[in-house]
Amino acid sequence: MATEDLDNPQSPEEARRPLTPEQAERLPRVHRLLLGYYGEPKLQQRWDPLTQLIYSLLASRTHAAATQHVMRDLERAFHAGPGNWEPVRDASITEIERAIAAVTFPEQKALRLKALLEQITARVGSLSLDLLARYRTEKIRAWLEQFEGVGHQISAAVVCFSTLRRRALSIDANHLRVAQRLCLTPRADAATTEERLMRLVPETWDAARLEEHHGLIQLHAQTLCGFKDPRCKECPLLQMCPSGERNLGELRLTGD
Ligand code: SF4
Repeated sequence: MATEDLDNPQSPEEARRPLTPEQAERLPRVHRLLLGYYGEPKLQQRWDPLTQLIYSLLASRTHAAATQHVMRDLERAFHAGPGNWEPVRDASITEIERAIAAVTFPEQKALRLKALLEQITARVGSLSLDLLARYRTEKIRAWLEQFEGVGHQISAAVVCFSTLRRRALSIDANHLRVAQRLCLTPRADAATTEERLMRLVPETWDAARLEEHHGLIQLHAQTLCGFKDPRCKECPLLQMCPSGERNLGELRLTGD
């Protein structure tokens, strides 16, 4: 694995160059090794695009299990759910905040969620995103990203994980950390990292495989490759990870 490109920006010429066999093998190898170590990740329920958007908005910086609980709380509190989110849109911000209290930043998310549902209704004419299925992936993502609180990561989750089933990689803080430690692409923000990682994704990977890949990276980020003290000695990716080799080298130097 080359480490020298870690902090070098990629020029447009480099971005257009065909992949070398080593580059083309990077993501499939990561995928195979993680699949062998963790087995198939448990994937979340398949939802319509609007329900996925609500889930993704609530999920930022919140553990998946906690977000799933909150989705159920939201449905119970307002007798709402897929195909029927109007009661949440019409509730007060205080009521929404109470129902989603277990996520991080509930005040901000309650405000954003209500505004988002109202704005979608105003633009579409009803509270549904089913019309998005008619559009190209880039157009759907640009449309979603015009709403406050909906960035690259959320738009990728909506197009890939929902019934839209389009190719995209949702790069959250966990995914970004693992990709950077593995030096899969030059270091950059989440949006640029997604663009660069998508160049490494084999043509044959569909949305289901990309979701599985995301699930494996999440599992890895929460199990061995945590924010603090990654457990590199046990890691199935150690042989291809410059950061892991460096971490273990430092441990040997300090005699731990
Ligand atoms: S070797 Fe260490 S830093 Fe690299 S992916 Fe594994 S746990 Fe993360």
